[in-house]
Parts: sequence; structure tokens; C-alpha cells
Amino acid sequence: MPWNDEAGSRPTSLAQMSELLEAVVAGASGEALAEIPLPRSTRAVFVRREDQDMFEGLDSRDKDPRKSLRVDEVAVPELAPDEVYVAVMASSINFNTVWTSIFEPLPTFGFLDRLGSESIWGRRHALDYHVVGSDAAGVVVRVGSLVRNWKVGDEVTVHCNYVDDQDPSSHDDSMLASNQRIWGFETNFGGLADIAVVKANQLMPKPTHLTWEEAAVNALCNSTAYRMLVSRNGAPVREGDKVLIWGASGGLGAFAVQHVLNAGGVPVGVVSSSSKAALLKRLGCENVINREEKQYHFWQDEHTQDESEWRRLGKDIRSLVGSDPDIVFEHPGRSTMGASVFVAKRGGTIVTCAATSGYMIEYDNRHLWMRLKTIKGSHFSNYREAWSANQAIVDGRVVPPLSAVFPLEETGEAAFEVQHNRHEGKIGILCLAPREGLGVSDPALRAAVGEDRLTIFRHDKG
Ligand code: NAP
Repeated sequence: MPWNDEAGSRPTSLAQMSELLEAVVAGASGEALAEIPLPRSTRAVFVRREDQDMFEGLDSRDKDPRKSLRVDEVAVPELAPDEVYVAVMASSINFNTVWTSIFEPLPTFGFLDRLGSESIWGRRHALDYHVVGSDAAGVVVRVGSLVRNWKVGDEVTVHCNYVDDQDPSSHDDSMLASNQRIWGFETNFGGLADIAVVKANQLMPKPTHLTWEEAAVNALCNSTAYRMLVSRNGAPVREGDKVLIWGASGGLGAFAVQHVLNAGGVPVGVVSSSSKAALLKRLGCENVINREEKQYHFWQDEHTQDESEWRRLGKDIRSLVGSDPDIVFEHPGRSTMGASVFVAKRGGTIVTCAATSGYMIEYDNRHLWMRLKTIKGSHFSNYREAWSANQAIVDGRVVPPLSAVFPLEETGEAAFEVQHNRHEGKIGILCLAPREGLGVSDPALRAAVGEDRLTIFRHDKG
């Protein structure tokens, strides 16, 4: 195994990573990178098994990712034959890292233990720490012996669908595979680290016109929104369709808006502040509902919903776009699902991938069956869908909604921002990249897409 061959000569500390980093930043050739020894340990963000009960008895909002997410060096595991090491230049915060960090709905160590029981290579994952993160952009620095399509030196982004290609159930739509997992959430060695371990079938080309941090924030949310709204596996938007998008300036929503516009649909974005509303307009979403201003009270109390409030939302949508939404893009869950089912048009579809506010959902089933509506469940994307979603970024048809960038050491702070809905779009995390702005190799394409468009979400950049 390549790991064992090299182990004797490896640097032990990340301080000694600088040679590799300098070579990557300088655009060194694959041959040159292959000559540079990899360290035995890597800086990484992780939660510890011993901490999994630390928030017992607290409300979700009081469970603090800044307390549970640690940044320290951990051993780099051996490389399986179908894997690569990626020197991670940048990563991003996804909501699944928030879930892991507050140990809800379950501690993720159960996922690792299950993976650990499946194979010799799986055993590496069942550790007392869980390195998190489900997005990454970086450079391939070693490849396993079975890797065919990628080589050392390739600049890549990473999608998080982790499947076992020896499982027959993974060979139609791999999201239907019985052992499908999300990398960095249901597996160890995720993207919030300087070195990540990635299956070769998670790799995609890095968009050449983007910086590392812009390239790192797309794969998870963009691919999820793509499957929900573009792929035939979701609720594909047709020209002229009206699409209600909850959280339209958030991670998923910012991609959903762009996919709806690209398909010739009409997005109606819901947000919770006037600054988010303005942001959406800059993204091209003309129809925006500010739920903070409208003060919808879908729930009268913990057990009772108010149909007149659903009706008020429906009226607001019709006053903007003239008819009920053909599709509702759902993810808040318990707070909004009753309203979503109600406002969808007769024969319309509610496509859902999450339940941020609670997963025990209630809606009035009469509105579903009498008006022939469909609720469609969706989860991340298969490799084909992730690749197509990435191509939209590569071509500049979809832009990254990067709003802020934190250093790896401050991942807990960044996760806290997302947990408390204090962010917009996506938060990027700098891993090996020494500063923002690096990694653009096609400035002409960048200029063609437009600096203004690429930085719509960067208020802090003026
Ligand atoms: P995000 O960046 O936090 O955005 C979510 C947006 O939803 C927020 O910006 C907020 O927008 C809105 N929102 C939150 N709570 C709400 C409520 N109670 N009522 C109405 N709107 C609410 O998160 P994200 O990355 O888009 O992810 C959203 C959810 O999807 C998370 O639970 C995540 O775990 C899940 N997810 C699932 C998949 C999958 O493959 N299954 C993939 C990605 C994400 P406003 O405050 O502006 O309205």
C-alpha cells in the first residue's frame, strides 16, 4: 500500500506541510507533487465520541457547535485502492455539520460504527473522533491503485455521495443504494481538514474561473437543488412553472433560484429580511416574500395550525405571479409543510429534502388528495446529477452564493452562524489556501461570467 511504503519518510507535523502547500499554490506539476512526502497527520475539524452527551437536556438552540467542534491534528488513514487524498484548499459549512456538532437527531458515531463493521477499509472509519465536512475543493496529491480517471495534480471539487459500487442496488440511481452514505456526515475523513480521503467517484473538475473558496461551497447544495428541480428524479421545472422556494437566499435556496431561472421558470423566493430580499433581486428573483414582514403564524400553538394563515400566503403568492405554485421547494419542515401542501396548485408537487424546524410533519391530507398533489422526497444526488450540476458552475450558468469566509480554526463560529440563521448563501472555510482569492486559472471566463455576478453574496467585500 502506498501509505506503508512511504510511512518511514513522512513528516509528522502539519508545520511541515508548507512544502506541499507552496507547491500546490505555485501550480506544481503532478510529478513534482508526487515527490513531496505527505505528513502522517493532518489538521482537521472533528467531534469526539466522549462528548456526545455534552448537551444533554439543552434546547437545540443552546447546543453550541463552538464547544463540540475541535480543530487539531489527527492521523491520516491509509488509502484504499479506489480512493485519493485531496489536499483541501477550501471547504464549506453545511447544515449536516451543524447536526453532527449538536449530536442531533442522533450522534453520528453510530454511522461510523456501522460502516466500520462492513469491510476492512470501512473499519478505518469507526474511530472515537469524527472528521466532518461534506464539501471540498483542492488538489489530488495521491491516488489509489484502482483510480483510473484522476491523477496527482488534478484540481477538483468533491461531491458527497459515498456509495459502494459492488452493491447491485447502487447501479441504477445510486441514491437508491441500500448503503448510500453522505461523506463527512455518515463517513469519517470529511472535507473540513487539510487532507481529505475521498473515493475517486466523488471527484469532479474544479471550475477554472473560481477561487478555491468559491469552488468549495457548491457541490452539496447545488447538486441537491439540481436533483430536486432539474433531474427527472425530482420535480423538474418546465418553462413558465411558478416555484415557491423557502429559504431562497440560504444554501439550498440560492441554487434553487438559479436552476428555476435557467429552466425558464418563475421563482417566488421566501426570505426573512429586507437585505435578503434585496440579495434575491440581484440574483434575478423578482418575486420575493419577506416572511418577517408578513408575520405568518401557520401554527397557533404547538399542536394547531391555522388554515387562514396558509390562505394568506397563497394570496400573497397569487398577487405576485398570478397563480398557485406548480412546485414548492421544501426543507424547513414542520413549520412550513402544512402551508406548502396547501398553497401548491391542483396537481402540483411539493419536493422536500429536509426538516430543519422538525421532522414530525403535519398537513391537511384533504388538500393533498382532493387536489391531486404529490409530495416527493429527495436526497442529495447521484454522480451523474452532481456532475451536471457542477457543469452548470463550470460553464458560469450558476454562480456560487459565497457570502463569508472563515479560517479552519474558526469552523465552530461559522457553524454557529449557520445554526442561528445569521448567514446568507454559503460560508466558505479556508483550509490549506493561505488567503482568499487564489485558484483562478481562467481569468477570461471569470470576466465573461462577471465579477459582479460572482460576488453577489459578498456584502463584506463592498
Ligand atoms: P441554510 O443555508 O440555513 O438555509 C435555510 C433557509 O431556510 C434559511 O436561510 C431560512 O431562510 C429558511 N428557514 C429556516 N428555518 C425556517 C422556518 N422555520 N421557516 C421558514 N424558513 C426557514 O440551510 P441549507 O443549506 O439551505 O439547508 C436547509 C436544510 O436542508 C437543512 O436542514 C439541511 O440539513 C438540509 N439539507 C438536506 C440535503 C439533502 O440532501 N437531503 C442537502 C442540503 C441540505 P429565511 O430565514 O431567510 O427565510
